[in-house]
Amino acid sequence: MTQPTTSNPTDFIRDIIDEDIRTNKHAGRVATRFPPEPNGYIHIGHAKSVCLNFGLARQYQGTCNLRLDDTDPAGESMEFVESIIRDVHWLGFDWEGRLFYASDYFEKLYAFAIELIKSGNAYICSLSPDEIREHRGTFTELGKESPYRNRSVEENLNLFERMRAGEFEDGAHVLRAKIDMAAANIVMRDPIIYRIKHEPHYRTETRWVIYPMYDFAHCLSDALEGITHSICTLEFENNRPLYDWIVERLIPANRPKQVEFARLSLSYTVLSKRRLIELVQKGYVKGWDDPRMPTVTGMRRRGYSPEAIRKFCAEIGVAKNDNLIDVALLEHCVRDDLNERAPRVMSVLRPLRVVIDNYPENQVEEFECANHPQRPDMGTRQVPFSKVLYIERDDFLENPPKKYHRLGPGREVRLRNAYIIKFENMVKDEHTGEVVEIHCTYDSQTRNAPPADGRKVPGVIHWVSADHAVPAEVRLYDRLFSIEDPGSEGEDFVRHLNPDSLETLTTCYVEQSLKDANPGSSYQFERLGYFCVDEKDTKAGKPVFNRVVPLRDSWTKIAEGK
Ligand code: ATP
Ligand code: MG
Repeated sequence: MTQPTTSNPTDFIRDIIDEDIRTNKHAGRVATRFPPEPNGYIHIGHAKSVCLNFGLARQYQGTCNLRLDDTDPAGESMEFVESIIRDVHWLGFDWEGRLFYASDYFEKLYAFAIELIKSGNAYICSLSPDEIREHRGTFTELGKESPYRNRSVEENLNLFERMRAGEFEDGAHVLRAKIDMAAANIVMRDPIIYRIKHEPHYRTETRWVIYPMYDFAHCLSDALEGITHSICTLEFENNRPLYDWIVERLIPANRPKQVEFARLSLSYTVLSKRRLIELVQKGYVKGWDDPRMPTVTGMRRRGYSPEAIRKFCAEIGVAKNDNLIDVALLEHCVRDDLNERAPRVMSVLRPLRVVIDNYPENQVEEFECANHPQRPDMGTRQVPFSKVLYIERDDFLENPPKKYHRLGPGREVRLRNAYIIKFENMVKDEHTGEVVEIHCTYDSQTRNAPPADGRKVPGVIHWVSADHAVPAEVRLYDRLFSIEDPGSEGEDFVRHLNPDSLETLTTCYVEQSLKDANPGSSYQFERLGYFCVDEKDTKAGKPVFNRVVPLRDSWTKIAEGK
């Protein structure tokens, strides 16, 4: 399992950059970019790439551009662009005004394509898509040259211009790089670099009916921006020779180095954009910002902080081989971060009414409670106590086992920050037999003091005052998938959705101090976990809370080999 890294990370990418600086490649400059395609919201895997690219720029006093890689009109939109801008900012990174769109380079890319045609390095192929596939060959079988491969430059130029002018249907012609149909690397067998697509683009609208392929647009966008290190995920390793081939022929003065690293895969999670889109479109989740989604917007709404996400990305580091990271490590980083800074409060999720028979009617005491046990700087708050309280339903058992240190017939328990109470009797629903209320007495001498007679009362439970507590809705989230690797190839992933990934509790009570808690702020509900005020559904005086993570940490156990 991934070991924690120190604050000064070293990895193979940093080794490459160190060496490039030593040999004064690119005059010692470091320029990276984060190039998402705006066809979905960015997720925790993208966050890894964001932290890496912007982190390198920061570490080497270089620059990192944000580039929308928007060369395929299908599925791209301004909504996604806006979400990406917001999410990268929120993660804590700044592109200092260098926000670029690959679609702004369409005219330049077209001119580069003309240049390739003129130098005899590209041709118009008029085979059908199926024929092109057949001609391409396989790993064991060489490709066959297209019968159109030796068209004259004039004919190629003429056809390419007419492709742009919209004279042909989709698929009638493509522009291909003229490389080598016998290359061992299939990517180099005359790859398509332009295709006809009569589809409006969210930025260039209907101005273009031909669009450059990723392999052509990406490397040239990098070179145009003066990128020095083009960091991408491993699946592009085979495309690196093509990347170099194109740049060498068109912008040889500036050759970015493509460096591949392993993409993040996370257990109990899918990170393929296609699958995330399916989850949203088919309604398996409530939108991109559903707190169960691994998207940045979902994690933000869930209550994960940018610090916790960056910490996680630093912990996993970058490697050259794919592996599945345990989602418990992410949850561990989130919990660690909240443990440090989330104020403590008392809230009751499944309430049971408790009447303190010997407590004066109408009396209210205010108890001063620390907001954080280890951080006096976080101050205190007043918590009201009165005759009628709510406690957690499972903190009372009619027939408790021996080691149960909470309430039951004949038993005592300490109310956190308050008194010791003793069970007296209970009220049951006459039809269902369910306990609906319990009656207790309190020992007035035990306010923040042990019992005078030295008797032991080991249990401590949380509570709220019924008259003062604020009704709230609480959403308990669990992992979205019930198997470790729902994203593995060929899995019908929706079959593995966890049916219990969301439990909504509508009859909760949170302590008075949370009445107007700020949307987005997080708290530890003592004994229960960390909870965040939902940004979307919270109404004035009627908070909705999302459970960020439970208190128990499964990662520590895993790390310690238990
Ligand atoms: P698509 O399948 O649509 O290409 P993608 O996940 O590759 O989706 P992009 O928008 O192309 O999405 O990705 C932008 C950048 O984020 C790329 O540099 C890509 O390598 C990186 N990236 C995407 N997914 C991950 C991941 N799981 N781990 C690390 N980096 C990732
Ligand atoms: Mg991609």
